[in-house]
Amino acid sequence: MSVLINFKICDNAPECGGIAICPTGALSWDEENETIKIDNDKCISCGSCERECPIGAIRVAQTDEEYAKLQKEIDDDPRTTKDLFVDRYGAVPLSEFFMIEENELDGKLTESLTLVECYEDDSIQCLLSSIPIKEITSNMPSDTKFYKISISDDTKTKYDIKELPTLLIFRNKELLGKVEGVYSNEQKEELISKIKEIIE
Ligand code: SF4
Repeated sequence: MSVLINFKICDNAPECGGIAICPTGALSWDEENETIKIDNDKCISCGSCERECPIGAIRVAQTDEEYAKLQKEIDDDPRTTKDLFVDRYGAVPLSEFFMIEENELDGKLTESLTLVECYEDDSIQCLLSSIPIKEITSNMPSDTKFYKISISDDTKTKYDIKELPTLLIFRNKELLGKVEGVYSNEQKEELISKIKEIIE
């Protein structure tokens, strides 16, 4: 029996839910090569990993014919992880421009409205649970800046952050306020009105 992973769209991280849920150890994390390892001799094609994967990167075949069909689908898949970023963040892939280091933050702050998303987990899970920034900023001034930073405890302490992800909102280099925690797509309006209260 066989499991396949579409590494074109998989973020290939040790936190993979498929690894955690696999009852036989057919999926594991290969520390040395930093990749998810598949041992198809152990796979019983139960399908748990496929159901667990939020982006459909894990596929499970029951027969050799199905394996070949799924492999071809993966080979022909034109997507990359960048496409997922485009989907979440707008017309252009999330670039290094958005991703800054903690020590760059002070230098990035100007008189413009600046939103800084702080997170600890850069896996696809974090991406999927965040609301597309293009939707959050659609009614904001055109010079609004947006950055993402992976933060340490020092920054958490500095801004009194209790829950991640947190959106820090600055203007004129001053912190206007923050919104903490995950907001699902269903809570988008709630998030937008909280941000509005802070910036108005
Ligand atoms: S199909 Fe079941 S046994 Fe096979 S890798 Fe997935 S979770 Fe493990």
